[in-house]
Amino acid sequence: MPSHAVEAQARPAAGAVAPARTVVHKFGGTSVADAERYRHVAQLLLARGESVQVAVVSAMKGVTDALIELAELAAATPVGATTPEWRERWHELRARHRGAAVALLAEHAGPAVEWLDQRFDELAQVLGALSVIGGLPGEVLQRVQGQGEVFSARLLGEHLRSLGEDCAVLDAREVLVVSHGELGVDVDWELSAQRLARWRQLNPQARVVATGFVARDAQDRITTLGRNGSDYSGAIFAALFEADELHIWTDVDGVLSADPRVVPEAVQLESLSYDEACELAYFGAKVVHPQTMSPAIERGLPIIIRNTFQPEHPGTRITSERDFSGPVKGLTLSPNLALVNLEGTGLIGVPGTAERVFAALRNAKVSVVMISQGSSEHSICCVVKQEDADRAQAALVNAFAHELTVGQVQRVQQVPGISVLAAVGDGMAGQPGVAARLFESLGRAQVNIRAIAQGSSERNISVAIDSDHATRALRAAHAGFYLSPQTFAVGVIGPGNVGATLLDQLLAARGGLLERANLDLRLRAIASRGRQLLDPRGIEGDWRGRFQATSEPADLDRFTAHLLDSHLPHVVIVDCSASPEVADRYPQWLAAGIHVVTPNKQAGAGPMDRYAAIREAAAASGARFRYEATVGAGLPVISTLRDLLDTGDAVTSIEGIFSGTLAWLFNKYDGSVPFSHLVTEARALGYTEPDPRDDLSGTDVARKLVILVREAGRALSLEDVEVESLVPESLRQSSVEDFMARLQEVDAAFAARLASAHAAGQVLRYVARLDADGRASVGLVELPREHAFANLRLTDNIVQFTTRRYCENPLIVQGPGAGPEVTAAGVFADLLRVAAGRGARL
Ligand code: ADP
Ligand code: ASP
Ligand code: MG
Repeated sequence: MPSHAVEAQARPAAGAVAPARTVVHKFGGTSVADAERYRHVAQLLLARGESVQVAVVSAMKGVTDALIELAELAAATPVGATTPEWRERWHELRARHRGAAVALLAEHAGPAVEWLDQRFDELAQVLGALSVIGGLPGEVLQRVQGQGEVFSARLLGEHLRSLGEDCAVLDAREVLVVSHGELGVDVDWELSAQRLARWRQLNPQARVVATGFVARDAQDRITTLGRNGSDYSGAIFAALFEADELHIWTDVDGVLSADPRVVPEAVQLESLSYDEACELAYFGAKVVHPQTMSPAIERGLPIIIRNTFQPEHPGTRITSERDFSGPVKGLTLSPNLALVNLEGTGLIGVPGTAERVFAALRNAKVSVVMISQGSSEHSICCVVKQEDADRAQAALVNAFAHELTVGQVQRVQQVPGISVLAAVGDGMAGQPGVAARLFESLGRAQVNIRAIAQGSSERNISVAIDSDHATRALRAAHAGFYLSPQTFAVGVIGPGNVGATLLDQLLAARGGLLERANLDLRLRAIASRGRQLLDPRGIEGDWRGRFQATSEPADLDRFTAHLLDSHLPHVVIVDCSASPEVADRYPQWLAAGIHVVTPNKQAGAGPMDRYAAIREAAAASGARFRYEATVGAGLPVISTLRDLLDTGDAVTSIEGIFSGTLAWLFNKYDGSVPFSHLVTEARALGYTEPDPRDDLSGTDVARKLVILVREAGRALSLEDVEVESLVPESLRQSSVEDFMARLQEVDAAFAARLASAHAAGQVLRYVARLDADGRASVGLVELPREHAFANLRLTDNIVQFTTRRYCENPLIVQGPGAGPEVTAAGVFADLLRVAAGRGARL
């Protein structure tokens, strides 16, 4: 049909019936986990109108592992054990296969079950022999571990036949001949093609089901293509059958930008070049075996990775075409590695050292995953498999024995527990800044980089890191390349007035931040003085209900460990308590790389040594300490001061009204109502602390002044501030009720001060001051009626900075400076600044 001919040129639409041609489909263990899945696979194959269709199958999910375990168990079981453990496992495995056969084939199951029983009897004989030998020869392991594919192909073949399809089952051990070389498994193409041609003469069916994974070696012994080798089998059969395409069916929508088990936000890639797929596979992307590419590349055969559970999804197409988008397409992790480091001053400028390292490792049959040499040539480091590390170290010690004795080489060191993180993409070539972005993301996530290597193809940058950091590193890098959001584990302490409002604001803004700014603020923990709620995934919605329901006692050690356990790239603790004990923890949090954001004045105004420890810890680790909301709530007071100082300005004096409560009282106090009445009114309106003496004493204002003065670089302490308390000595010790009841005792004194101010044409204001000669004071002062401080709205705060640049006319920050809404917003803004500093696009 002419329409078919046209279609054959084009990429078939998803799920469409393909035109007449040869296609090899490989089904991984995840696609054939049980009878139901085999049925699904069969339907999927039958729906495709290919002229020759080859289905290469893996063993049922988990069967290869089970077979290997069986062999190891048998070899380790002494003969004569009454019911050896391997027997039980063997029974289980046979039952699983029989069960699948019966479920799949129903009344046609008889011959298949009989055949399976024979195979399992043979297997039992081999296992029995292993326990007699008391060891596991490689050859026997090869034979045993490949059995699952033989069972699997048979099951699918029988099922297709039971559906009335004429299909042939190809045992790859009859045709495929391979040899195991240093670089992996090589196919004897000529011999294999001959054997296949012969097999085809006897089995000319259009539909073939073939075993993956298994083959024979040149000595005609049964062998396998290595773990996950069925992908390679698929590619080999695609070449041998001269297929037009190879489809690799698995349980994900194709190749993703990272392993979805580590980075759940990983995105599906529409297309990849062979080179990109090779690098990803080589560096551990399990979705496709690295050797799969070579037969395909040689023939220009497209490989399509796709999802059996979602057959209509187009999947990922791997071809020779390159596109330079990205620049990074995918990231991988290879675990279980070690670093072997050769270090010595005697290596500097000596040619051929790298060559000797390579030669020594090659002779010791150690394959090198990555090698890197500092430009100082002072050390060469190689990353090798953990299992090869001792051999590698010994080989180098041996090869450089002379240099070690004479001191030209100081040491050959081994560092275990290493993973390699690789960033892959064709678009990286010639594009500056990719490596910088990777290192920046890792640096910000506090990941220590041990070694770096970039292939000359510039398609891959690999970094060796501690395995303990691997998950965090992968997520941070993934987010760093905007492949997934910047993610923060957030913990909030003190869900009181400000804390609760912040939690509401945070949860309300979460969705928008995720969508617009690609920022994922994940609330993982809330703690009050008594209780805490730790959530592994993130608290959403009704945090109050969940917090009330929690019965876990507060424990800040566990709280901290829980936040760190998330392996999220960034961790931030928001302290909305007013507790000095919580502030005591800041240095240790910051040292661990946890950012701290707080409206708690304890740290900024508390003991100088704690303050210094906080600053030092933050400077050393790079974690941020932000406390904008401690002064002027949401007003940009500290950040304005910072900007002045950072741009080279110098502060001469600071002056202001830092208390919304005191601002309100003196704005209102004009003599028409006694002062005590105003305090009572303010308390009723919720403008004061529960005990109004906390406001009237002036300590809170003094604390804010200390914070600003310290920020300006001077070592001021609370004791250094001259504080005028508005609470007379006689009222300081009594209860709140008693204090409120006796409050009118202060009225006469206030009235007198007001009268004298008015007589001079002035008003009273409670002002904080750092004057030009460094004197810090807070207290009630008289100011002209036209003064900026005399003309504020009721509870407004005001801060006035006189600096070298702003000398004639000071810089003023003014606005509402109290209330849970604006304070929480100030804290939230700090949190967002921390996120922006870590690369969030805000
Ligand atoms: P199969 O049995 O089909 O061969 P595998 O378990 O061998 O399946 O490979 C598929 C799995 O590989 C996926 O389920 C996924 O968890 C994992 N994987 C690791 N890295 C990637 C990646 N970059 N893209 C897609 N899947 C990946
Ligand atoms: N069944 C084999 C394994 O698990 C081969 C494969 O599925 O690719 O390694
Ligand atoms: Mg696989």
